[in-house]
Amino acid sequence: MSPEQLLAPSALPTLRAAVTGLPAYVPGRRSLGADIAALASNESHYDPVPAATAAVAEAAGKMNRYPDMAAVELRERIARHLGVTAEEVAMGPGSVGVLQQIITGLCDAGDEVVCAWRSFEAYPILVELAGARPVRVPLDHAEGHDLDAMAAAVTDRTRVILLCTPNNPTGVPISHRRLEAFLESVRSDILVVIDEAYVEYADAGSGPDSLALYRRYPNVCILRTFSKAYGLAGLRVGYAITTAAIAEGLRRTALPFAVSALAQKAAVASLDAGEEMAARVSLVKQERARMAAELEAQGWRLQPSQGNFLWIRADAPLLALLVDAFDAAGILVRTYQGDGVRITVADPASNNRVLWILEAHAPLATS
Ligand SMILES: *Cc1c(COP(=O)(O)O)cnc(C)c1O
Repeated sequence: MSPEQLLAPSALPTLRAAVTGLPAYVPGRRSLGADIAALASNESHYDPVPAATAAVAEAAGKMNRYPDMAAVELRERIARHLGVTAEEVAMGPGSVGVLQQIITGLCDAGDEVVCAWRSFEAYPILVELAGARPVRVPLDHAEGHDLDAMAAAVTDRTRVILLCTPNNPTGVPISHRRLEAFLESVRSDILVVIDEAYVEYADAGSGPDSLALYRRYPNVCILRTFSKAYGLAGLRVGYAITTAAIAEGLRRTALPFAVSALAQKAAVASLDAGEEMAARVSLVKQERARMAAELEAQGWRLQPSQGNFLWIRADAPLLALLVDAFDAAGILVRTYQGDGVRITVADPASNNRVLWILEAHAPLATS
């Protein structure tokens, strides 16, 4: 102990500046009653597929054991699903967990990570926690990634670029052609992460063929999750597709046993039930199209969303009105101060409630 420490017996532990600089965690309001619609987190509003629930029930009887840390069965199942090898699959507790492994594995203090803004809230938080620096590049006028500006934001400190397609919260995808040109222009030692949390909801051809790009550009890393279309948000399981070398590194940085056996079994069962998932996704897409058409008729001008959510850009006065209206109606939505509101597409009854509220505040509304 140094003399200074002996002289300061009342000093208390302090948090790192990177931690105190983060916004405090605000717990999402949980749905409290049957008539509350939880449309703030882009969860699936369907129950998990029965095979997943059954797999969890069976695995529950063995929770005295640690799970398979290498998640071999699940990685092999994912590899077969996507036409890669199991060595190219890295698992984590949600794709946010995998992303944390990526940042930890690649970024030293002071390194830079380029992302679009607005995009997924977790990106700058994970980067700052690692002591690296998030470089936020504003979206273009059509709510999509401004890839030219993102390429221009690259410096010799850039280690990772985070792309989100379709983008959360705006729903706008990155086209294959534009992403290809971007990858052609970006240094090959920068890991380009393509976060495809909502890929199952995207119309064919609207976004990139990320696997084809991964095969051509080994600095591409694809991020996917079981939390959204597969309906396993509460179990925490996601993965990256990346080179065997990076995937192996990510496994080293992972919190041991972070993906439970319940999650691994449920994920395998969910992949096996791919057609059930696809049927649910197609109902959500029908509802998305119905809502988009209705909102268009109401006078809203929205960018088409390829996710299971809609994005309404709103200035401060409009946002305040919408927040009050949704609150009063018992509908939980995600609001972004200064930018807008994101609403999960759910069951037709909840969606109708959303449409009624938006109708009352539509640009063409007379009331
Ligand atoms: C929901 C979401 C994820 C998935 O998070 P999990 O940790 O897998 O639950 C990842 N990226 C984006 C952009 C998301 O919206």
